[in-house]
Amino acid sequence: MAEGPDSVVIVGGGLAGAKTAEALREQGYTGSVTLLAAEDELPYERPPLSKGYLMGKDEFDKAVVHPEEWYAEHDVDLRRGVRATAIDRAAHEVELDDGSRLPYGALVLATGSEPRALPVPGAEPLTLRTHADSDRIKATFGAGKRLAVIGGGWIGLEVAAAAREAGTDVTLVEAAAQPLLGVLGPEMGSVFADLHREHGVDLRLGSTDLSGLEADAVVVGVGVRPRTELAEAAGLDVDNGVLVDASLRTSDPDVYAVGDIANHDHPVLGRRVRVEHWANALNQPATAAAAILGGSAAYDRLPYFFSDQYDLGMEYVGHATRDDTARVVTRGEVEKREFVAFWLDDQDRILAAMNVNVWDVPDEVRPLIVNRTVVDVDRLSDPDTPLADVGR
Ligand code: FAD
Repeated sequence: MAEGPDSVVIVGGGLAGAKTAEALREQGYTGSVTLLAAEDELPYERPPLSKGYLMGKDEFDKAVVHPEEWYAEHDVDLRRGVRATAIDRAAHEVELDDGSRLPYGALVLATGSEPRALPVPGAEPLTLRTHADSDRIKATFGAGKRLAVIGGGWIGLEVAAAAREAGTDVTLVEAAAQPLLGVLGPEMGSVFADLHREHGVDLRLGSTDLSGLEADAVVVGVGVRPRTELAEAAGLDVDNGVLVDASLRTSDPDVYAVGDIANHDHPVLGRRVRVEHWANALNQPATAAAAILGGSAAYDRLPYFFSDQYDLGMEYVGHATRDDTARVVTRGEVEKREFVAFWLDDQDRILAAMNVNVWDVPDEVRPLIVNRTVVDVDRLSDPDTPLADVGR
């Protein structure tokens, strides 16, 4: 029998919360597992909310992490529509919104993120985080309807693409000079600007002027903030997310954090990262579960994410921030939107790579990033040179 505490309480019924329950059972934990989910839904994945589900192509069921019977079969007490309101670390108890208290041996925080608000004069802007949000936004789509999207990040761009595919007139307003500027930089940001212009989006870059914006509905996608209130009120160390060590343990040894809220000391990157992406929520829970069960686990996967817009599919692996003095090298045909972009540091080591409409790249790039391989830039930019042979 796996060791561990008598009981584990997981706060947050998103992907990271559901995967934590699954990982505990997969790793042989036999104590009690309670999953508190503020939304009155089975835990579900969010990427389809701005893609297939928003476009009406995929059923919502496809996004559900586990069917309802899975929870009973695995003896996981899923409490839907129940919110944790406080953590009493001294008593090892969580307080719930019905006033009751729930004891825990180990506590896992998986409270995720919520959209940043932006007031829009004369409009009641919509944001996109939940199933219901996606339904509300979908209802604004259609030929002859006009949608304004504020924010040219991933969510704003995906909503714009889904809306255009439904024949909606779309105006997208972005304060920066390019969409995705903070994530991809100007060169790659312009690839997405061109993509959306070609698909008929009225793209207004470098603009914060919302006056005169004629629209039937407004969607705001200006980023998210991690839901750290519970952790903060409980006196855990919080700084841009809940601070966790390599094994996802917080400043309290009986409390863990996974998914969007975890600001994680990454053993490979050698820095703290907080990753607001699906793969992180999917994979971190196995490490947290192993640590809860007494293992010496460390979460060392590189950040990874993907997006789909119109006929463009992309994946990104690694971590290049605005602070990195990264230069971009490409292989393939950027104009045809079939290429790989690499972000290199000042010693020609790959920090991150994005493949656009070419596939199977992340698995080949990961070892180059992890091993800090110094690359030959000519070979790197030559599509005929296998990635395994680009080292200097
Ligand atoms: P969340 O998914 O935010 O779940 C947290 C859950 O906890 C919520 O259900 C919340 O209600 C609940 N909760 C919060 N507080 C409490 C409390 N006190 N008590 C009980 N429950 C609580 N990532 C990609 O890599 N690729 C994509 O293409 C992509 N597309 C996306 C599209 C959309 C529309 C959105 C919104 C996100 C997308 N993401 C994508 C990001 C990805 O979905 C998130 O990184 C992921 O959902 C994080 O999972 P999580 O479990 O940490 O948090």
